[in-house]
Amino acid sequence: MSLRTTYENDSFGLSFELFPPKTPESEAMLWQTVDELVGFEPALITCTYGAGGSTQAKTLEVLDGVRGRHPAVAVASHLTCVGSTVDQLREYLREADQRGVSAIVALRGDPPQGEAAFTPVADGLRYASELVTLIRTEFPQFNILVAGYPETHQEAVSPEADLEFLKQKCAAGGDVVVTQLFYNNADFFRFRDRCTAIGIDTPLVPGLMPVTNFKQIQRIASLCKAELPEAFIKAFEAAGDDPAAQFEAGVEYASRQAEELIAEGVPGLHLYVLNKSPAAIRVLEQVGMTRS
Ligand SMILES: Cc1cc2nc3c(=O)[nH]c(=O)nc-3n(C[C@H](O)[C@H](O)[C@H](O)COP(=O)(O)OP(=O)(O)OC[C@H]3O[C@@H](n4cnc5c(N)ncnc54)[C@H](O)[C@@H]3O)c2cc1C
Repeated sequence: MSLRTTYENDSFGLSFELFPPKTPESEAMLWQTVDELVGFEPALITCTYGAGGSTQAKTLEVLDGVRGRHPAVAVASHLTCVGSTVDQLREYLREADQRGVSAIVALRGDPPQGEAAFTPVADGLRYASELVTLIRTEFPQFNILVAGYPETHQEAVSPEADLEFLKQKCAAGGDVVVTQLFYNNADFFRFRDRCTAIGIDTPLVPGLMPVTNFKQIQRIASLCKAELPEAFIKAFEAAGDDPAAQFEAGVEYASRQAEELIAEGVPGLHLYVLNKSPAAIRVLEQVGMTRS
């Protein structure tokens, strides 16, 4: 069954996003997380793709590890255009295919640290839509996920232009749109309405990241500029310096977000789990999902 069909059917598409661990300790935590989360029977486990060569190899190693432990779980590699020629992208896609990866999260990528704008390498690609076209044309066996931005991409010339480019990515072959994290559901609902209005009929899967401490909040605000609503800030202020109370506040907020999104008929949820399972498990259990 194609991934799009999974999301279009009545079955709920759950996905978990991992990143390549940097130390043996964080790798051990990653596997524990994977083992705990597969019980929710995700449609997909994905792994991010970094800018450096060694991190890129790590992405496929993580997905190998997931498949080795849980052969029935479908895995997706994120892939960006940063620093790669088209031939290098092809090589990665061939390798991913050989290793049993069934889906690609096709992205442009961010400008490397210290650079203000994204500049494609010679013989490289400029936009995610070009990567989607490459995959759809030369590697039709892959399902393709693309990124959407409920609060508009930071570099977009306008929200309208950003949506038109999203429409292009979907028309080029994106099967599912996974959104950037957000903390105000109204942003997602507005985004969904605007997608429908311009004729995007690709399943839109909201991306949620339960925040469990203050440090993460500062990182989110600076990295992806997600708006942090007053109710969210207040919940964290009420938790004070107590890490356990901060964790509870984050879980509670994300659970209410997930609950409302599900009630409003989203086809799935993409959880940015940050290689840790406790918050994700609590959120999913609070919205009535159980582990097998
Ligand atoms: C679910 C998800 C997963 C992610 N995973 C990773 C990861 O693993 N590794 C990583 O490095 N980054 C990751 N990112 C971040 C992502 O790479 C950045 O947000 C990046 O800046 C944009 O990528 P994109 O694929 O959305 O780009 P694009 O869709 O190419 O859009 C980039 C910008 O160009 C504009 N644009 C698009 N097409 C055109 C066109 N034809 N003409 C003019 N302008 C155009 C858009 O409006 C937008 O402003 C992820 C983001 C999300 C939401």
